[in-house]
Amino acid sequence: MHRRPIAVSLEGNAEALVRLSRTRGDILWMRAHFEGRLRVEIRGSDRGSCVILVRSGDEPIRETRITGEAEAARETADRIIGELYPHSCGSAECGSWVAMAPNNK
Ligand SMILES: [Zn+2]
Repeated sequence: MHRRPIAVSLEGNAEALVRLSRTRGDILWMRAHFEGRLRVEIRGSDRGSCVILVRSGDEPIRETRITGEAEAARETADRIIGELYPHSCGSAECGSWVAMAPNNK
């Protein structure tokens, strides 16, 4: 059993990220990596855009706002995770995307 260490750098903007977290919309999609130690959320935002949020536990690590549908944002989110923590995603330690809310308001 090997555990991959996760080095987290908050780059000094943790406060801003936490503040922003209160203005984000519902979580639409979530994916767990590294046995759940890292989580990626796709949240609704203003019309036609969404927010990709990477968390280590409750700590936000990276927030990216993109235009487009939440479903399409999954691809971008996977790329962001791959850049932050290169690993072979899809192995047993990573989950699949899970839809968190039905597509209605
Ligand atoms: Zn993964």
